Amino acid sequence: MPEAVLRQAASEMLDWHGSGMGVMEMSHRGKEFGAICTQTEADIRALLAVPAQFHILFMQGGGLGENAIVPMNLSRGTRADFVITGSWSTKSHKEAQRYCEARVVASNAADGHTGLPDPAGWQLSADASYVHVCTNETINGIEFQQLPDLAALGSKAPLVIDFSSHVASRPVDWSRVGLAFGGAQKNLGPAGLTIVIVRDDLLGHALEICPSAFNYKTVADNQSMYNTPPTWGIYIAGLTFQWLSQQTEGELTGVAAMEARNIAKARLLYDFIDGSDFYANKVDPGCRSRMNIPFFLADESRNEAFLAGAREAGLLQLKGHKSVGGMRASIYNAMPLAGVQALVGYMREFERSRA
Ligand code: PMP
Repeated sequence: MPEAVLRQAASEMLDWHGSGMGVMEMSHRGKEFGAICTQTEADIRALLAVPAQFHILFMQGGGLGENAIVPMNLSRGTRADFVITGSWSTKSHKEAQRYCEARVVASNAADGHTGLPDPAGWQLSADASYVHVCTNETINGIEFQQLPDLAALGSKAPLVIDFSSHVASRPVDWSRVGLAFGGAQKNLGPAGLTIVIVRDDLLGHALEICPSAFNYKTVADNQSMYNTPPTWGIYIAGLTFQWLSQQTEGELTGVAAMEARNIAKARLLYDFIDGSDFYANKVDPGCRSRMNIPFFLADESRNEAFLAGAREAGLLQLKGHKSVGGMRASIYNAMPLAGVQALVGYMREFERSRA
């Protein structure tokens, strides 16, 4: 989280803008929270340049909830195509099988989830209700550097993207997207808020079994207030959107500035890893994530010592996901370049002291 956001939230915790109450104490139907919610939606629309024909929904259930909610709303019980690129898209595919005929049309499982299957080779269905991709595989450290152009690949299906772990780290080409979803807890705010951005024509096709609170049309028709939305998450995300829109890098502002900063942060770490025999990242350089950088020590018996020294140096949460092992540096938007410099400095020193 950006420190400025946490400080502002702390200062407004007991009394939001002289209202005499904190955001957690407000009725979601009151005018104060209504103003926060409307502003938050306007801010994310401006920040991510979301076109008018897309609805912005504030929901709950997280990325895994959306793995069921998307097929319940979009599949019409027919067929959906899945591109498997790592742990999260694998989970999405498995869950969707409960609601529709979920087909795998491409997979990088054979290479251990280290490269992206070339879109030209995807076996897209002629009649898919949607095509699902995870645009940043958080665990495997794989990111689409551009969104697939389904129309150019001969598919009429809308593209669904799980952008949970890189939302707001780079611009989105909405001309290629039908629906985007993401949990807020990486780049936007606290866990508990899920953001869904969905094109107008995809509303209104939910399966009969879809819970009303998860029916996108119901949520959209009620401005995300069909039931109580995650008010605190919306408020903090709103502060984060404002913080993001104020960020600059040279001439760039907002998400474009964040992208430039994220490229510089990721390059620093990848260049260091690639220049060392002591550390390795196994992902194809063409699709390496700017947010989540898994890396391995050549001698894995040093893992514990590496993590202990890192903790002492104030570098936390570097242990890799249990399914992959090794290390993982998650350098989300709020991580400053200085944080990555400190990590590289520690890694260099650890390598030197063990040589
Ligand atoms: N998709 C991606 C890309 C993720 O990184 C995560 C969480 N790490 C999820 C889905 C699952 O999100 P949640 O825990 O909010 O259900």
